Amino acid sequence: MMAAVGGGGKEGEVADPRQWLYGLPGGPLIEIAAGVRLHRAAVGPFRALAAAAAREGIQLAVASAHRDFERQRVIWEEKAAGRRPVLDREGRASLDPLALAPRERLFALLRWSAPPGASRHHWGTDLDLWDRAAGPGFRPALTPEEYAPGGPCGRLAAWLDSGVAESLGFYRPYAEDRGGVGIEPWHLSYRPAAEECAAAFDAHRWLALLRRRRVALAEEIAEALAEVCARYLGFGLAATRV
Ligand SMILES: [Zn+2]
Repeated sequence: MMAAVGGGGKEGEVADPRQWLYGLPGGPLIEIAAGVRLHRAAVGPFRALAAAAAREGIQLAVASAHRDFERQRVIWEEKAAGRRPVLDREGRASLDPLALAPRERLFALLRWSAPPGASRHHWGTDLDLWDRAAGPGFRPALTPEEYAPGGPCGRLAAWLDSGVAESLGFYRPYAEDRGGVGIEPWHLSYRPAAEECAAAFDAHRWLALLRRRRVALAEEIAEALAEVCARYLGFGLAATRV
């Protein structure tokens, strides 16, 4: 079943036709399963990917595809308030974000989370995947260990690198640690549509949205906007794009 997904904007805000790039309503999304929404351009390639995985005994399952602004805001603000674990640089131990100065807290969060409005998951082009064939009752926590060789999703991670995903237009934006976002072997992106979204994303428009909605750490993001875009997002300010 395929259904277009829409919805109203927030009262008092003038709807921008591209507001969906920031997780607001109106994007070109298709619901491919209950609660799983993808950019319409990614639906066919994703189905082809799932079929190719099944031929290898991998049951591709989606932990998260499109997430909207409010969903991302809950994740972000629970981490900022110390109500949800914030992992250290290696993705192992939990940090106490409240023990950090606001600027350090911002960079600790950015290592493993995108702020609301700037998540690639807002575009519907990006997915977090796991392997339902990993074992009965297995549910992923999305940790690097699960996707390492010998881990429950190790075969999936290796297969995603084998070239089939790339031939269908997918890539892993967080495959290497460049000192910003940590390695996320579960995160896959449909490149043709994602590149269009990245090119259209306007960092100043995003910042205005964060301020309007009084999102946690918005002022710390404002002070470090170029660094946040270049080192963590990889999009948003053309001159500083990495
Ligand atoms: Zn992800």
